[in-house]
Amino acid sequence: MNGVSARRVAADYAARTDKLAQPVRKPRTATLALVALAALAAALTAAWWPWRERQLPTAPESEAAAVPAVKRLTEIPFDGAQAYEYLKQICDIGPRQSGSAGMAAQQKLLIEYFTKLGAPPTLQRFRYRHPLTGQPVEMANMIVSWHPDRPERILLCGHYDTRPYPDQDQRNPMGVFVGANDGASGVALLMELGRHMPALGGKYGVDFVLFDGEEFVFSDTDPYFLGSEWFARQYVAEPPAHRYRWGVLLDMVADAQLQVFQERNSVLWPDTRPLVDSIWSTARRLGVREFIARPKHEVRDDHLKLHNIAKIPTCDIIDFDYPYWHTEADTPERCSALSLAKVGWVVLEWLGEPR
Ligand SMILES: [Zn+2]
Repeated sequence: MNGVSARRVAADYAARTDKLAQPVRKPRTATLALVALAALAAALTAAWWPWRERQLPTAPESEAAAVPAVKRLTEIPFDGAQAYEYLKQICDIGPRQSGSAGMAAQQKLLIEYFTKLGAPPTLQRFRYRHPLTGQPVEMANMIVSWHPDRPERILLCGHYDTRPYPDQDQRNPMGVFVGANDGASGVALLMELGRHMPALGGKYGVDFVLFDGEEFVFSDTDPYFLGSEWFARQYVAEPPAHRYRWGVLLDMVADAQLQVFQERNSVLWPDTRPLVDSIWSTARRLGVREFIARPKHEVRDDHLKLHNIAKIPTCDIIDFDYPYWHTEADTPERCSALSLAKVGWVVLEWLGEPR
């Protein structure tokens, strides 16, 4: 995930953290004025907001409160501990930027893994000119198809390359970046989810797609999302026999301090709004309170290409409140089995719901 807006969001995050650190006592008159302003704002919002509220099938507060919050790994029928092992295994490879030996090692691991589960991956290969050396870089999206006979399909995706350098690291911006949350988390979650896929009922087939070249970025002007753009353009240029009804992007889903707000593009696009609603409703039903049913960050990510080019309604599940983003400290210690279990469970349950 990127980039210009992502950095802006990171700055907002820092500013907000600063603000929280300084308790401010306001005089009473100012407080009253603020209350009046807030009431006015609420009234104005209510005036133009109802069309959107009507689309949103929200459970009554009492019902939401009645579902107890899930707190322990053992309560969750998705093996977060195993997913966390996969995350560590991937990080043990080291950096996995596009075209590197680390990426090749990861591809080998994943091909062996999914083949054993009965779904040998295919590689969608493409080339890109290295922004620094000018040399061609071999890239490949990895596609893992479950129930390939089902023509209506759901796309579950993430990126599996890591950023070349931890550019947000104050101490060592040219250091080593292993991308535990930003890179390995989505892959690890899909690895564990793969063990549930052979038994998936319903009419939809599922494709896992791991994008290469999500952040093969060395300067501010380098483009992001090479793999998802390639995938989306191929989908349009050579339409396959199947169609994707929905797409769900998983990025930064293992933060030990998990908080998954709704991503702003995913909420604002009319064709993805029902998707967001249904996923967050599933989380509410399960008592996974870390899925917070309101928008917060606008994140530029692979879902933009899938939505805008391929016209696949795709939302982004991302926890962008992560202080270790693009730093050397984005390591397995900042992630947790419980967070992976919670996100994995929501996705698994959502897949199994009738639609
Ligand atoms: Zn990133």
